[in-house]
Amino acid sequence: MTHLAQPVSPVNPTDWGRPRTSPKPEASDAPSIRREIDGDQICILTFDRPDSSANIFDRATLAELDRHLDFLSAADGLKGLVLVSAKKSIFIAGADLLSIFAETRPEALRELIELGQHVFNRIAALPCPTVAAIHGAALGGGCEIALACDWRIASTDAVTRIGLPETQLGLLPAWGGSTRLPRLIGLPKALEIILAGKALAPKPALKCGMVDSLVPREYLLPTALKKIREGKPHRARRFLTNNALVASVIAARLKAQLQKKTRGHYPAVTKALAVVTQGISRSVSASLQLEVEGVEELGKTESTRNLLRLFLLQERAKKLKAGPVAVSSAAENCAVIGAGVMGAGIAQWLSAKKLSVILRDVSADQIARGLSNISKLYAEGTKRHTFTAVEARAGLDRIHPAAAEVPLRNVDFIIEAAVEAMAPKKEIFRTLDALAGEQTILATNTSALSVAEIAAATVHPERVVGIHFFNPVHRMQLVEVVRAPQTSPAAVQRAIQFVQQIGKLPLLVNDSPGFLVNRILIPYLIEAGLLFESGARARDLDEAMLDFGMPMGPLRLLDEVGLDVAHHICGTLAEKFHGRFPVPSLLEKMVQAKMLGRKGGRGFYVHARGKKSPTLNAETEAFRTGDSAHALTREQLQVRMVLLMINEAARCLEEKVVASADDVDFGMVMGTGFAPFRGGPLRHADAVGAAQIVVVMRHWVDTGAAWFQPCKLLEALAERGGTFHSD
Ligand code: NAD
Repeated sequence: MTHLAQPVSPVNPTDWGRPRTSPKPEASDAPSIRREIDGDQICILTFDRPDSSANIFDRATLAELDRHLDFLSAADGLKGLVLVSAKKSIFIAGADLLSIFAETRPEALRELIELGQHVFNRIAALPCPTVAAIHGAALGGGCEIALACDWRIASTDAVTRIGLPETQLGLLPAWGGSTRLPRLIGLPKALEIILAGKALAPKPALKCGMVDSLVPREYLLPTALKKIREGKPHRARRFLTNNALVASVIAARLKAQLQKKTRGHYPAVTKALAVVTQGISRSVSASLQLEVEGVEELGKTESTRNLLRLFLLQERAKKLKAGPVAVSSAAENCAVIGAGVMGAGIAQWLSAKKLSVILRDVSADQIARGLSNISKLYAEGTKRHTFTAVEARAGLDRIHPAAAEVPLRNVDFIIEAAVEAMAPKKEIFRTLDALAGEQTILATNTSALSVAEIAAATVHPERVVGIHFFNPVHRMQLVEVVRAPQTSPAAVQRAIQFVQQIGKLPLLVNDSPGFLVNRILIPYLIEAGLLFESGARARDLDEAMLDFGMPMGPLRLLDEVGLDVAHHICGTLAEKFHGRFPVPSLLEKMVQAKMLGRKGGRGFYVHARGKKSPTLNAETEAFRTGDSAHALTREQLQVRMVLLMINEAARCLEEKVVASADDVDFGMVMGTGFAPFRGGPLRHADAVGAAQIVVVMRHWVDTGAAWFQPCKLLEALAERGGTFHSD
């Protein structure tokens, strides 16, 4: 029998419990889990991964936890176990996806899943009460270890999030999440969380029964000890929802819904649905076995590999550095010039990230509209539990409207988001240059204009950079950081750090018309317009791209962007890339007819107030002047639109707009929602094959569509059977 006062067993990497057939984990230098046992014989395991702001589960950490459980299982008189984290904003962030991705042995995923299940099962089997005291993100494995405990209590802090995001990564919760969550909160609610890959804020987590109590962070431990004194909980069995009959009805209904929603592109959701609904009427161990088989199957799919890759690219962006430039302190004060769609969105986001923001516009009316839009964003965020009412109020208070020039000496960053035209932007930058302090960075949010040309209007062009947000700002994580030839490395580095500070993902791009994302998107939108003008039906064009996996069709997207804005960007690119962007006359005609898209209520669709889905606008029939595209099938339409994106993506790589094929793919998925399961346009091109792409493009050139000329890089890859990516 072990004595409880015994010190933590030293890490022995060769002894990590079952499954004994698994390979030995790598040795870890310092332990990730501290064990303390108080005078009441209650054990507290504190997760504190060395040299990291996050706790994660890799094989070594699971093995370490297993050894603690060896000790606790053998301990005499243990009264309870509490799991806590020492990190500022993370309980446990989940599995170490990097190592999952890097594993090449086919059996490695199964071994890792079985090891996690084994360790969490041991926690669930402890005879004493167990409590997960959650502060920060408890996601994936972090949520599943909590589900293996008897009690879950969580802090009321805004950083606390509890959930199972696995399906978004092409996986399913397989460390007991698909088995224990439905047993805890009932099948329907559990499926809602698992299939959407949701992470819940504290209040919704309490409401659905995922956690038992919410307390301020400082009361977590006393509350955990109180729960232990209460003993093991007596939870009611959920006979009404958790039975084979109900499960099969729910499974059939949701399967049809999911098929409609995902068009069959995301096997993880259907697999998760099958595992959860079949597992509910089996024993826990049989259900856990379904989890293992399900995840093993998913691990072999290209879609899961692509989704994991994208996750890793997001992590890479969080750590991006432009070079060995000294780290400067965090920004505190900002100014946003222009209170329109983008300016208001940017000001709201910055203020929510605790930055003080001067919101400047030439029009007092526009400032009032901007502030009203910002209030709406805060109200929606409060409803979604992103902010508390107090945080929303404080955020609004950090915005200082300015209808006249104000001193900007103490401002760290100025972001210009005024009209998209060179002359006014130059004028604005001339003024800002004089008003700003020596250390102030001047950034433009231009969609396609030359940052170098804008910078040339200033005395200090080295501090001018592009910081290009996407619309809507609060939803789109990507921000292009545009480096012009004269931008100093220090300004680029500060811009990248600023983007990271505000919780967005930076992509470093060179100053080239449309940068990366708009440059690739525009030929696609132009092609959709040309095809429509030449007789293709609007519904076929949009459905073709939804079938491909885009979040919305190109004509619907044109309505969202605004026909006037799209027309302007198309014009800029057509001028710069003479002859390669045959802008359809339809765009100008629609702008003249005041069919501006969603903002004006009419575009390719009619956007009626209060109606969720717009309907096709019959007025556009007048602009269909040709019939050459009338007979094209949806598949042919899709191929044409996709090939132009691939070709432009290849050109961007060829011209070094970004540094790598990964950058291109990451930018397009994060900036436009390009079918994530395909991994991005260049990953998709590799899957199709350059030779095949070039053959089809040449065919379209032969029919008279000269803009289908494949770029040199594509032709070279086709010739030597090469790929854009080397892995
Ligand atoms: P918008 O027309 O909604 O807003 C522009 C605002 O700038 C207006 O309120 C106008 O009064 C103000 N303004 C004009 N001149 C000014 C000046 N001298 N000083 C201060 N304010 C001035 O435009 P938007 O859609 O918000 O776009 C702003 C910028 O962001 C453009 O460069 C655009 O290309 C870019 N952008 C737009 C989107 C988008 O989807 N709308 C996305 C990314 C980038």
